[in-house]
Amino acid sequence: MAGRDQATNQLKDYKEKEGTASKLTTGHGAPISEKLNSLTVGPRGPILLQDITFLDEMAHFDRERIPERVVHAKGAGAFGYFEVTHDITKYTKADIFSAIGKRTPLAVRFSTVGGESGSADTARDPRGFAVKFYTEAGIWDIVGNNTPIFFIRDPLLFPSFIHTQKRNPSTHLKDPDMFWDFISLRPETTHQVMFLFSDRGTPDGYRFMNGYGSHTFKLVNAKDEAVYCKFHYKSGQGIKTLSSKRAGELASQDPDYSIRDLYNAIARGEYPKFNMSIQVMTFEQAEKWKWNPFDLTKVWPHSEFPLIPVGQIVLDRNPKNYFAEVEQIAFSPAHLVPGIEPSPDKMLQGRLFSYSDTHRHRLGANYLQIPVNCPYRSRVSNYQRDGPQCFTDNQGGAPNYFPNSFSGPLECPVAKAPSFKTVGDVARFNSADEDNFTQASEFWNKVLNADERTRLVDNIVDHLKDAADFIQDRAIKNFSQVDATFGQRLRDGVNKFNSTSRQSANL
Ligand code: NDP
Repeated sequence: MAGRDQATNQLKDYKEKEGTASKLTTGHGAPISEKLNSLTVGPRGPILLQDITFLDEMAHFDRERIPERVVHAKGAGAFGYFEVTHDITKYTKADIFSAIGKRTPLAVRFSTVGGESGSADTARDPRGFAVKFYTEAGIWDIVGNNTPIFFIRDPLLFPSFIHTQKRNPSTHLKDPDMFWDFISLRPETTHQVMFLFSDRGTPDGYRFMNGYGSHTFKLVNAKDEAVYCKFHYKSGQGIKTLSSKRAGELASQDPDYSIRDLYNAIARGEYPKFNMSIQVMTFEQAEKWKWNPFDLTKVWPHSEFPLIPVGQIVLDRNPKNYFAEVEQIAFSPAHLVPGIEPSPDKMLQGRLFSYSDTHRHRLGANYLQIPVNCPYRSRVSNYQRDGPQCFTDNQGGAPNYFPNSFSGPLECPVAKAPSFKTVGDVARFNSADEDNFTQASEFWNKVLNADERTRLVDNIVDHLKDAADFIQDRAIKNFSQVDATFGQRLRDGVNKFNSTSRQSANL
């Protein structure tokens, strides 16, 4: 960063707004007379155990950190609203879409994926783009990314995939062999790896990138008619990316570049906007489609499934407190509302379990009572009770069993999801070879221009060059199936490096 900006003025602004300071207290609210000197026997100590001011302060300090998110640890948050601009009630009865002009408050968390909480914002990595809608029918989360696809299509591979993006268990270093070994052994990663090493792998902050729900979802209307759908949000600011060189420079000069950019833009009143649209596929189309519509490594081409405009996301408030509102915010694909349902997408099914499971570990069984997670626009009434850190009235004297004869909450038949048929043999189906290259070829041949292709090749070479020879060979073989020239250019690039630096380093 250069000089002072809105973010660096935060404390100054706070002081101007607050005026006089409030009374200093312990955690239990008692006034503190002295905060600078511990209570000792004589000037040299020891400290007395009865120094409750010290004990209160230190014991809380010892517990300041909660477990870091295993993925998406580094992020930025913002708040705002969603406004419906087009009628999609023929597809969904979801309350949020019930009328044009309807506004729903929301929270967004943007993030990188692989790095730790202190890592650089400009790393080449997908970006998380998670949206929490506080609807009148409960919380609805779309826990998406800035890419419409993902690396894998079976969630059983997810922990291994993430391990390969993180640190080697022995050296504690990022490991090119681990990364490219997994990638090249699982060619379904090819499409997303090409997105990752393209220009869009290093977005210029969080405002200038698109978001995607990525998974296939199901929309259900008031007549219980269902279609499959995908969610897209296009940046109202346009797409801007950083060159690899600039992203590298920023990683050392301002590792918090994206957090700062988002905070300052909102503080300046330049509210980021994203236009939401959906793609719709009927069940009949899904049956007949050439690809599996639930395969997360594939897009639905726009020409076959055009974007249907829906509304706009506007981010107009910065978090007041990062820990309370961003570190503790907990998104889950399982936070669904009537009118929006899961599809059979295996990756989505896996995430329906794992996200809420993670939150119960990170934040506790009552994580939905934390203000930023609480469905404050729809009253929670159920038979869940107790657990650590229950800080509501625990539903007072209402009965805690169902059915009951004492005015406990009743089922809502209108929220019933329509039944659907599913048949099939129970087995572990191998999805490794479900056409891993056709869409990747489209991307190479039809979407990227000549300069973008060159940068994609250079970016991959710059990373793949550090992997072992046999892994390089396997990776290049996969990319050659996307396009022979693409493979050859990677071969030439990697060979150039192998014949110079590797030999001189005697590796
Ligand atoms: P289209 O020509 O209709 O769409 C191509 C899309 O590619 C664009 O709309 C844009 O998506 C995205 N795109 C453009 N430049 C880049 C880039 N440099 N890096 C990453 N994405 C870019 O064709 P199809 O819908 O038939 O898709 C063709 C190929 O485009 C796909 O195989 C896929 O690789 C890629 N793609 C498709 C998307 C989709 O949802 N259909 C989305 C993203 C990529 P956007 O408008 O969302 O930015």
